[in-house]
Amino acid sequence: MGASMNGIAAAIGDLVQKIGRPVRLMEVCGTHTVAIFRHGIRDLLPAGVSLLSGPGCPVCVTAIADVDRAVALARQPGVLLATFGDLLRVPGSAMSLAEARAGGAQVAVVYSPLDALELAAANPGHQVVFFATGFETTSPLIAATLLTAQERATGNFSILSVHKLVPPALRALVATPELAVDGFLLPGHVSAIIGVDPYRFIAAEGGRPAVVTGFAAADILEGIWLLLRQLAAGAARVENQYQRVVRPEGNPRALALLDAFFEPADAVWRGLGTIPASGLTLKPAYAELDASRRLPVAVPAAREPAGCDCGAILRGLKTPPDCRLFGRACTPERPVGACMVSSEGSCAAYHRYGQRPAPPVGPAA
Ligand code: SF4
Repeated sequence: MGASMNGIAAAIGDLVQKIGRPVRLMEVCGTHTVAIFRHGIRDLLPAGVSLLSGPGCPVCVTAIADVDRAVALARQPGVLLATFGDLLRVPGSAMSLAEARAGGAQVAVVYSPLDALELAAANPGHQVVFFATGFETTSPLIAATLLTAQERATGNFSILSVHKLVPPALRALVATPELAVDGFLLPGHVSAIIGVDPYRFIAAEGGRPAVVTGFAAADILEGIWLLLRQLAAGAARVENQYQRVVRPEGNPRALALLDAFFEPADAVWRGLGTIPASGLTLKPAYAELDASRRLPVAVPAAREPAGCDCGAILRGLKTPPDCRLFGRACTPERPVGACMVSSEGSCAAYHRYGQRPAPPVGPAA
């Protein structure tokens, strides 16, 4: 677009006037949520534009049952569970991984799955299990680590895969009758892997515009402007604002690596329930790398935290300040739900940067 931030903001204001009604847009990705707050983008937008957070924070959408399974694994004798740090404090039904560690379970924080593989090499007397979470951005790195584990013939390494796929979750959202969202800002980094085509259904079936968007302030404003331009014209297309990074076909090498190790499987998402083919499980040929097959554990039925509206927030039906626990019983220091734990969680971002509530939920035009 090539305009200054204030110039884009002014163009957005013109489009909102042309549309003539309040517009609600969902930033699907937690990284966008944080960038929007950090850059003060809400303050640049006219009152008629509301931004809602979506299901794109991997920690937030990890089901409590999956946290419980990781805790149960970590408490097995001889198991060392490796995890990204932001999962450590996510409350499970009975305890978090941090609490399990305080109780004697072996839990290590790692910065990459390769670190977990190194842990396996350094601890030959343990079974090292990597708690593999995240979207298409992270899963190719896990697949590369599995390839390395195979090449090294590491016998004491496996993963607990709770990977999620973004397009099936968006498909479930778009099919939700109460969805009050006029358009979607799509995650730039996930799209760098999967490309643009997997999102076409949003326009074709959901009748809503969507824009793959980068993470700089100017990217996000331009993404919003592109969405509003479509809405003002009565159009619904999938556009790519982030062309300097995202190719239409994505990253074929990363996709091939994923396809070599994983296959889609039904997955449980916090707030969205079970979504068909929305997760990644290891192919049967790699059972020795699959902790759920290699180290089965019994896990009681999961219990959701009472009063937590995380699920409704991840579906764009509520904003964090709508939750009666927000900033009171639930804070970053004492989180009740996952959305307050991760730095990319909507509740944590609202809490850190302040908030401007969205207008009451009503049907999108
Ligand atoms: Fe859940 Fe806490 Fe967010 Fe409320 S503020 S929705 S309890 S994470």
